Amino acid sequence: MPTQIAVIGGGAGGVAMCLKLYDQISQKIVNNNSGEVVAEITVFEKAAVVGPGLPYSSPYKCHMLNFPKKIMMGVFDSTALDNAAEPDNGSVEERETIYNSYQETVFPPRHLYGEFLANRAEQVQKAAKKIGVVINFRKGTEVLNVKKLSENQLQLETSTEETFIANYVVLATGHMESSRYRELKGSKGYHHNPFDAKKALESFDPKKDVVIIGTRKTAID
Ligand SMILES: Cc1cc2nc3c(=O)[nH]c(=O)nc-3n(C[C@H](O)[C@H](O)[C@H](O)COP(=O)(O)OP(=O)(O)OC[C@H]3O[C@@H](n4cnc5c(N)ncnc54)[C@H](O)[C@@H]3O)c2cc1C
Repeated sequence: MPTQIAVIGGGAGGVAMCLKLYDQISQKIVNNNSGEVVAEITVFEKAAVVGPGLPYSSPYKCHMLNFPKKIMMGVFDSTALDNAAEPDNGSVEERETIYNSYQETVFPPRHLYGEFLANRAEQVQKAAKKIGVVINFRKGTEVLNVKKLSENQLQLETSTEETFIANYVVLATGHMESSRYRELKGSKGYHHNPFDAKKALESFDPKKDVVIIGTRKTAID
């Protein structure tokens, strides 16, 4: 039986987890020509795409990375993966070229980084297959509950009413909503959470005053 690893959340953290697991397993398995599946990694992502997560989904050009792209890409660099991955339709490379082509700025729009992460996810999925590691992306699937069944078995309940048994579960669910001012939720004009940025901005009347509570990165965005 292959080891079952469930990753909850397919943002930057979930993709990084897949890359790290791939790196570690590939160091142990040099050749797996038997076709035997040694591990299965299932990433559950409630959104329709794996990669961008919350921060890199904004479509706006003015929402830029807050670290230089060199550092951001460096974090996800995996030489082993680059050597093993063979993009079969050129799309992975094409999209990465777009990201790199933002030469004029070291802080490109965040959505480009989201595409970069989505490419990395596709690449690691292909590369992993060759060493007997199956990576499944369950897009549009929210994990609602995790129950411990035994010392090494956990049961996941999902929004698609499927139950899934895993030996390991990794939480990569990202930012939680603020627990403050919850009582205002649903009040006209109140936005508890600025994301999804597009939806929030579209609902503002430009003739009215806006109060932003908080002064850091998200407020500046
Ligand atoms: C506005 C903003 C801008 C940022 N900009 C930068 C930056 O420029 N550079 C930088 O280094 N860091 C930045 N960060 C920090 C950022 O948090 C990390 O870079 C990184 O994106 C965090 O990744 P994550 O996977 O932990 O979370 P996320 O990217 O948020 O991913 C979590 C994912 O889990 C999914 N999810 C949550 N719950 C469930 C569930 N129950 N079932 C299934 N799926 C679920 C969500 O849909 C989401 O896709 C920024 C953060 C914010 C909020």
